[in-house]
Amino acid sequence: MKTSKSWDDKPYFPISSYYKQTFGEKVYKITVSVAKTCPHRLQQYDQKGCIFCDEWGAAGHHLMKIGPLEEQIITNREKLSKRYRVNKFLVYFQPYTNTYTDLDKLVKNIELSIQQEQIAGIVIGTRPDCLPEELFPVLKDLGQKTFVSIELGVQSFSDQHLQFLNRRHTVLDSVEAIKNLKEKSGVNVGIHLMFGLPDESEDFIIESANKINQLDIDNVKLHNLHVLTNTPLEKMYQEGTFEPIELEPYAEKVMTFLKYLSPEIAVQRLAAVAARWDELIAPRWTKERMRPSQFIQSEMIKNNFYQGMYFQKK
Ligand code: SF4
Repeated sequence: MKTSKSWDDKPYFPISSYYKQTFGEKVYKITVSVAKTCPHRLQQYDQKGCIFCDEWGAAGHHLMKIGPLEEQIITNREKLSKRYRVNKFLVYFQPYTNTYTDLDKLVKNIELSIQQEQIAGIVIGTRPDCLPEELFPVLKDLGQKTFVSIELGVQSFSDQHLQFLNRRHTVLDSVEAIKNLKEKSGVNVGIHLMFGLPDESEDFIIESANKINQLDIDNVKLHNLHVLTNTPLEKMYQEGTFEPIELEPYAEKVMTFLKYLSPEIAVQRLAAVAARWDELIAPRWTKERMRPSQFIQSEMIKNNFYQGMYFQKK
């Protein structure tokens, strides 16, 4: 099985190794909350948004009582430094849609973040259809000063899946967003992808990996679709119209995906980690923080699988 020192002996290219190679040391993300909502929620009469998203817009527990940005950075930096002995951080604007704001405000928040001690750059989470044209030169300028990464909630390369998730953007929106970010701003680009959606064949997963290989994507974050309280998905789960995937079949999907994924693309996460444990309804295995990822890795090692084993450069 292929593992290498540059992958920290894992059967896939973990983002931690990418950060070490890029920054010369361990780097952790400090998650902060500045956005208050997303355009998708506001534009819908019932404000329900995506079927899996609760009212917190994917924020963690610690972000529910938020203070000023500087305070969030300092508090989280101290916690992470003590726990993991890390000296460098990226400020991650995670909940909701962080480019859905006026640009001056966004730039001010970014400037404030990179002025803080031990901050090596920023990561901005947003939707593929929320990248106004004026944003690209701004990101390009920021990219001259610091590390800038955009994380796009692509979720799936199937329009049917996007409709099922009520994402209200298309695959084409995602592809254009990735191309525009690279061509017009040159920033690092990550995408979030979900498995465990209805009618998800093995061929579709392989096609998704091949599509990603052809686009200029730096990293992927993988999630299983899980059910939180107070979401439209909860209702579907209670009515029996949605059943979350079990760990074993989910692991199969992830392994298939990784086998075809370019070994140059870093992987942020192998499975969802529930942001608020008390709100997770199903599947229960998503509550077991480390086990899903460890299970997938051990299955890969046992079967001699590794990222990119079937990747073919075009
Ligand atoms: S997942 Fe993102 S885009 Fe969808 S409703 Fe939640 S915050 Fe809005």
